[in-house]
Amino acid sequence: MLSLVIPVYNESGNILPLAASAVEVFTTLGREYEIIFVNDGSTDGTAAEITDATGRWPHCRELRLPRNSGQAAALLAGLREARGELIVMMDGDGQNDPRDIPELLALVEGGTVDLACGWRVDRHDSTLRRIMSRVANAVRGRLLGDGVHDSGCQLRVMRRAVRDAFYPMELMQSFVPALAVAAGFRVGERPVRHHARHRGDSKYGLGRLWWRPAVAMLGLRWRMWRNSRP
Ligand code: UDP
Ligand code: MG
Repeated sequence: MLSLVIPVYNESGNILPLAASAVEVFTTLGREYEIIFVNDGSTDGTAAEITDATGRWPHCRELRLPRNSGQAAALLAGLREARGELIVMMDGDGQNDPRDIPELLALVEGGTVDLACGWRVDRHDSTLRRIMSRVANAVRGRLLGDGVHDSGCQLRVMRRAVRDAFYPMELMQSFVPALAVAAGFRVGERPVRHHARHRGDSKYGLGRLWWRPAVAMLGLRWRMWRNSRP
């Protein structure tokens, strides 16, 4: 079984198109699957839209968090809930595309990697966001040795065992490849599509985008160093 985990916070208008597209991909694949929308305390029409999706497509379900807990916590909650032996994760804002799932899946099922990460070769974000992301990816690669070009890309496929490498920390979603590598899992990547956000707003202001990741990364670096000592 395949589990697709999608954290969503105030993504009204984005749920139904994404669910429809994911259902189409899994139906074409002819695989057993579930789609878990982790509703991270949304205050807009997201809950109603998820209810609409679960009514239309029985493979969809909602995991509702009582309050907004952040993308990392929502992702972890969804991963814990996943029943599939293979888990797919992606953003719920329409920027990742479910049509890229089969290639990532094939990479994992080929047996050479445990975690297949998307690489947004043609980013559709503002110039500033792209520059910040490039710097973040370079610094993460240098300091944490995650070995991928785009550790911030949230479209990934992995064996279920990889989730044991994760733990609650702020912005954990950006450190998924690093945590997997540190735990001894094999990580690969494939180019994926990336779309502009058509509905709703990014949840991250620019202020949050540099110092919080920096603090989180140094904490993780220290933890990895401590764990590597005999
Ligand atoms: N998200 C979430 N909880 C939050 C913030 C974001 O579940 O507190 C979800 C959001 O709905 C989206 C994904 O995380 O599905 C990525 O968020 P966003 O698109 O705002 O980030 P960006 O693409 O701008 O980095
Ligand atoms: Mg986004």
